[in-house]
Amino acid sequence: MIERVVIKGSYLWEGYSSEIIPNGALVMEGEKIQIVAPFAEIPHSAYDTVLDFTGCTIMPGMIDSHTHHSMDPSLENYLERMKDTIPELTIRATIMMKKDLLSGVTTCRTLGDKDYLDIACREAVKNNLIPGPRSIVAGKGMRAATGHGFVGYPFKGKEEIIEAIKKNLGAGADFTKIYITGTLRRNGDLPSFLSYEEIAAAIQTSHEAGVKVASHCVGGIGLDWALELGLDTLEHAYHISDHQIENLGKSKTQPVLTPSPILNDKIVNHYPKHLIQGHYDEREEISSRIRSLIEAKIPFALGTDGMHGELFKEAEYSVELGASNLQALQALTINGAAVCNMENKTGSLIPGKDADIIAVEGNPVENIQSLRKVKLVIKEGRVMSDTSSSHKQERGLMFS
Ligand SMILES: [Zn+2]
Repeated sequence: MIERVVIKGSYLWEGYSSEIIPNGALVMEGEKIQIVAPFAEIPHSAYDTVLDFTGCTIMPGMIDSHTHHSMDPSLENYLERMKDTIPELTIRATIMMKKDLLSGVTTCRTLGDKDYLDIACREAVKNNLIPGPRSIVAGKGMRAATGHGFVGYPFKGKEEIIEAIKKNLGAGADFTKIYITGTLRRNGDLPSFLSYEEIAAAIQTSHEAGVKVASHCVGGIGLDWALELGLDTLEHAYHISDHQIENLGKSKTQPVLTPSPILNDKIVNHYPKHLIQGHYDEREEISSRIRSLIEAKIPFALGTDGMHGELFKEAEYSVELGASNLQALQALTINGAAVCNMENKTGSLIPGKDADIIAVEGNPVENIQSLRKVKLVIKEGRVMSDTSSSHKQERGLMFS
């Protein structure tokens, strides 16, 4: 018989609405959530074991919507370190995935790694060989032959791009990643490194294969083209104009914001030397652009861009830039699930969905810094953190 576990907290937030259930609880059975209700309303006959997280909020496992398994910005000159050997990168990725998981990230979306190591990592987690969040992965990111993209591979012309997408999908990638622009404006225009035809070919080929296209794209003409052509997810959007925000709001394109690579000194100071000052110079302007996008009330997801274990920071930055705590939390849960095409599986606590659950100390709807204090991590019904034993109470029926 499958054990039925009730997890109770001082609050439960189900992942999308503004409602918090005081003394909320949920029952999970195997991999799935069965009941979500105030603890007092759940009959004793509905569960065998209690995990008591009084003082905490029970909420959905978080989703890092933009990361790279093998990236580690805590390393000096970390973008250059993406050229390390594949065995080194793979070992690093396994360490990063564990860090993510223990910080409450139960799903992540990776936007390109070297040599399909992200696909191997995804499968290793799926087969319980290593601990980590479930992931959906882009395989090899595609950049222009002369364009930006530290983690991407160069391609020229639409034929090469179509071929590369087919190879990626053949290898097991879940979606397509392209690099349309660079990151900094440097007082000039923001050129599109990919041509209109190349972007169109990437989107058409991917959509015909039933997968989404994500693009590193911060603004300029490339962003106009991407919106016109039906790009699925707009990553970073650092220099998006007011007019583009308006068009984004009318489109089906979902923004995935990554404040840390601009706002976190720890990351900026680890860029290649010639890029550091530029990031500081544009910090203010980029902050004001993200603020405008958030003010437009366009639903957004959030990603760390490799800052493993620190997704809470993205939530804090987005609150500093004008998001409500609830908007920031939705970015990490239900909006992330939408970006990953997983709304039916994860991102909210609803009976029938996977039991991806965390408990955080306090109430994050009131204090976003609660997300720093993750006390319990459950992924697909399995307890992943080692903090839960002191909270376990067996009812004595199943175990006598
Ligand atoms: Zn990235």
